[in-house]
Amino acid sequence: MSKLLIVEDEEKIARFVELELVHEGNEVDKAFDGRTGLDKALTGDYDLILLDVMLPGLNGMEVLRRLRQEKETPVIMLTARDAVMDKVSGLDAGADDYITKPFAIEELLARIRVALKKRIHTSTKVSNKIFIKNVLLDEDRHEVSVNGELIDLTNREFMLLQTLMKNKNIVLDRETLLNTVCGYDYIGETNIIDVYIRYLRTKIDDRYNIKLIQTIRGVGYAIKDDLS
Ligand code: CA
Repeated sequence: MSKLLIVEDEEKIARFVELELVHEGNEVDKAFDGRTGLDKALTGDYDLILLDVMLPGLNGMEVLRRLRQEKETPVIMLTARDAVMDKVSGLDAGADDYITKPFAIEELLARIRVALKKRIHTSTKVSNKIFIKNVLLDEDRHEVSVNGELIDLTNREFMLLQTLMKNKNIVLDRETLLNTVCGYDYIGETNIIDVYIRYLRTKIDDRYNIKLIQTIRGVGYAIKDDLS
């Protein structure tokens, strides 16, 4: 059984999600504004927090920022449709995942399961290092190594790989990746992402004979570990 906190001012949504989570055997706590949510998140011992971005009092981004100064509790952000910027800044601010409203409850539950599983698998990891299939990405040192060998990546290749690894097991579309790698104001074809993916594959997948980056046809790319 896991203990979850829902921070969401739309009480109908909060209650609906609560019901589903309780039905799955979890313990659920709720907060209807950012300030209360932050207080609960800081003082309570939660396995996962569902955090809406648009909140009265303190918005979700600010709640996340303040929470991350103290704790590493996994957070899934609830963002408005098409708010790519929210998604990316949420991830930058330390969110583990995001889901777009309106969402299908099955998808939310699936993402919650992944986030909870991830928490278990990463609880022993050294912070800011991500390790998947012999590939180690060190965010502090801005380095990537495979089997202990340093890989020479450009800044954009690094950012792309970092985004995919941080969101492992989640399929990211080209637009989301493009915003991460080229910035929000970049005007251009999303197929530039395919080019960067090809560079990464040459430098990592092909060279070390591993299947790291997966193409999800018609959607985008994902890096999956063997644990899920
Ligand atoms: Ca809201």
